[in-house]
Amino acid sequence: MSDPLQAPRGTFDILPEQSAARLEVERVTRAVLESAGYGRIETPVFEPTELFTRSVGEATDIVQKEMYTFIDGGERSLTLRPEVTAPIVRAYLQHGMHKLPQPVKLWYLSSCFRYERAQKGRYRQFWQIGAEAIGSDDPAVDAEAILLLSTILGELGVKDLHLRIGSLGGTEARERYRELLKTHLRAHEDLLAGDVRARIDLNPLRAFDSADPSTREVMSTAPLLLDHLDDEDLDHFAEVRSLLDAVGISYSIDPTLVRGLDYYARTVFEFNSDALGAQSGVGGGGRYDGLAEQINGPPTPGFGWAAGIERILLAATSLEDEAARTDLFVILENQNRPTKASGFALAAGARAGGMTAQIELAGRSVKGQFKHADRIGARFVAVVGDGRIELKDLSNGEQTEHADDEGALRALIELKGADQ
Ligand code: ATP
Ligand code: MG
Repeated sequence: MSDPLQAPRGTFDILPEQSAARLEVERVTRAVLESAGYGRIETPVFEPTELFTRSVGEATDIVQKEMYTFIDGGERSLTLRPEVTAPIVRAYLQHGMHKLPQPVKLWYLSSCFRYERAQKGRYRQFWQIGAEAIGSDDPAVDAEAILLLSTILGELGVKDLHLRIGSLGGTEARERYRELLKTHLRAHEDLLAGDVRARIDLNPLRAFDSADPSTREVMSTAPLLLDHLDDEDLDHFAEVRSLLDAVGISYSIDPTLVRGLDYYARTVFEFNSDALGAQSGVGGGGRYDGLAEQINGPPTPGFGWAAGIERILLAATSLEDEAARTDLFVILENQNRPTKASGFALAAGARAGGMTAQIELAGRSVKGQFKHADRIGARFVAVVGDGRIELKDLSNGEQTEHADDEGALRALIELKGADQ
């Protein structure tokens, strides 16, 4: 039974007092990414299901069990986006962005949907910030994008961060390696967790992600992809690392880093925070040079990352929820029309003058209105009565009297001005 008074499991409301911290994430993300020439993009919340099955991959957890898929009135299979990279590559191809100077650099702040086991830091609707640079395979694209995420997380005060990077090589090296890994997995099949065993053929690399102790034992002696890359991929990876070194970003190389999406090739990376407990992944991404072709486009290199806003908020220290600030609260001594009109005009004038202003809207007693002014943190109150307005500075108790709203507004603007 569903309860119409409860938001669905794994979802949450973002209440006004929580929005300041989120706006700060958005502000910093935008400032950092736009300083490097990224422009904002927004794609639809749903896409044809095939976009995700072809790109994210049939064998991934996301496609196998996490997608919100539905049939619409026109018998089309649609899916709420579980991630935003494939939709953005789709948009790049659809709008012929290959004709623009390359790479095309795009950023987003979007909601994503995954049917997962809901817990702290893991939700069914969550928000991601992300960046995609499409149209160049220059290792500087990879290093720059990693640097930008590192800058954003640093500015937001995300604590205890570690960066791990790895390389998955190109398609051919990975194919050769997959065979080696399958042989190793088959040789130890009886020791593997059921879900890993079931995916030996489909997705052997995911075995590195397993939390099962016996599987981890088997994986500790598995061949490593990093030892089987070809020279070009090794060069590419070395250049990414030397650029990160050049800007003083510290990282560890993790030869077992596998990400949960099939479209990655060459560079992959992840930021984790010790402040987060089990759900420690703050953000990650990598290169996806084969993705455009997987969705029927021409060969187009690309690199991108995504980071979860809820996890950033959980791991950041400096993002306290801010108390709202009010410059003026208009108290009505009575509900007479001229009194109300004069208070109404005063509040409107204050807002037009760049202040935050509220007027009594619930018919409280004068005492109740003073209490309310205090509760919303008002700096000034204007007490409006018949033919006179008292303006009071609550920070020092000083007050002045005025004949009408225009006079009160002039005085208020002067007082505020003297303040700054
Ligand atoms: P995890 O390993 O935690 O499942 P993931 O590898 O599935 O993460 P990505 O698909 O790379 O994550 O998504 C990028 C980021 O989005 C993650 O690092 C995380 O911060 C955030 N994220 C992913 N899934 C969720 C979720 N269900 N709820 C909240 N945030 C999420
Ligand atoms: Mg996941």
